[in-house]
Amino acid sequence: MADLLIHDAIVVTMNQENQVLKDGSVRVTDGFISSVAPTDPSDRDSTADRVIDASGKVVIPGLIDAHRHTDFALVQGLFSELGGGELLKEAFALYHTAEPALGESFFEAAWQLACLRQLTHGVTTVNAMDFTPELGAESIDESGLRAVIGPELADFLNPASADDQLAAARRFIESYHDTYEGRVTASIAPGGEAGCSRRLWEGVAELRADYPDLRLHTHLYDSSEADTMAAGSGADDPLDLLDQYDLLDERTLLTHLLHADRDDARRIADASAHVLHCPTVYSYFQAGSQSWFPLPALREFDVNVVIGLDDPFWFDSWDLIQEAKHARLLSNFEYGSQQWSSYDMLRMLTIDAAHALGLDDHVGSLEPGKRADLLVIDVDTPRLQPFSNLPSVLTNSVTAGDIETVVVDGEVLMVEHSVKSMDVEAVRAAARRERKRLQARTGWETSLAGTTPPEKSILRRMSARPLLRAMGQYGRGFLTSSRG
Ligand SMILES: [Zn+2]
Repeated sequence: MADLLIHDAIVVTMNQENQVLKDGSVRVTDGFISSVAPTDPSDRDSTADRVIDASGKVVIPGLIDAHRHTDFALVQGLFSELGGGELLKEAFALYHTAEPALGESFFEAAWQLACLRQLTHGVTTVNAMDFTPELGAESIDESGLRAVIGPELADFLNPASADDQLAAARRFIESYHDTYEGRVTASIAPGGEAGCSRRLWEGVAELRADYPDLRLHTHLYDSSEADTMAAGSGADDPLDLLDQYDLLDERTLLTHLLHADRDDARRIADASAHVLHCPTVYSYFQAGSQSWFPLPALREFDVNVVIGLDDPFWFDSWDLIQEAKHARLLSNFEYGSQQWSSYDMLRMLTIDAAHALGLDDHVGSLEPGKRADLLVIDVDTPRLQPFSNLPSVLTNSVTAGDIETVVVDGEVLMVEHSVKSMDVEAVRAAARRERKRLQARTGWETSLAGTTPPEKSILRRMSARPLLRAMGQYGRGFLTSSRG
């Protein structure tokens, strides 16, 4: 007996045969997909515990956000009218001074709000890099979602010493890796060539040797000063830096690569590493003169490129489908049309992202034996009908608001837009309360018209920290590259 049966759906399986069923049924038993098949008339009278009539609806695998930071989710709206340079200075001031004062309740509320938004946007798995990973794991558990969480390691950014950060990361891995029925796994997450000392890279290499099953998740080549920063760690360039510590292989996830070139793309392909592309944050703020990531070369060498929202609270969007659309628009603008097909985009949001995270045996497609992570999307609306090219509809026309139902691990977390796994009002109340506290402590003012940063923000809040020296040395490039 199935626990869940969805019938009469257009089922986009994302399996190896790219199979789409016009009138399909998906059965779920004990959290696993037990069958995907054409709808049999008897399915409509099924006595499964839960039956969803998906006539006029599309079922796709849950979306996977391949790169995101979460712990400052409550700053949404504060930064969205700022310029790139201003944004980065204000963001750094928050990162650097707010964390000890704001305390756990702030970050807990941030994670819960982020989980709620992730869920309502159909993002069933997130690959997160954060300073508050334990709170993240617990929020992910409560929400019913799935996550890979890396404690962000960056001793040029976080005042804690490299050794203390490494010890904390080890504790996180020991306590949280492969917990909550496997919905939470850990990664090793050094911030990147700009944020880490040699001692930290050495420690990362030790962690990697001790936990070979984990992904290494980092930022790379996100500023034009990347080579200089790698040279500061005794390497020729950022990829050489990873190579020196034996960190560049098929378990490595490289975020941004804005300033990488064709040769770098070939080296990434040779290592079978994966690229996590986050187009909006860079195009929205355009900090400094920007180059774009080398998509044609990455595709020429068949590198797995997937999509992430990065810091969605900076530009006020949690919609991963929109993020993929931005990726296509910006790449087409830079390199000419047809850089990706619509079906490529769907793969990037599902099975290719699962492959990057090492989860493709479990999620990313709708196939018997996989965990049941899926979305029901309403396409039977005047806004979307009539259509013929379904992948184009799903990547160009559908928005997160069309996602009706979200299932993770066979559990129905949202049904017909109603969230079941979280107390929505409590999450909203905590977010409002903590946001008020943030504003009171930092001096940020808000109104319906926008926001105003604190008067004497940077120098007062950032004095006598190692970061200030780094800023003087690298200026905007350092800021751009350390937490984008
Ligand atoms: Zn990032």
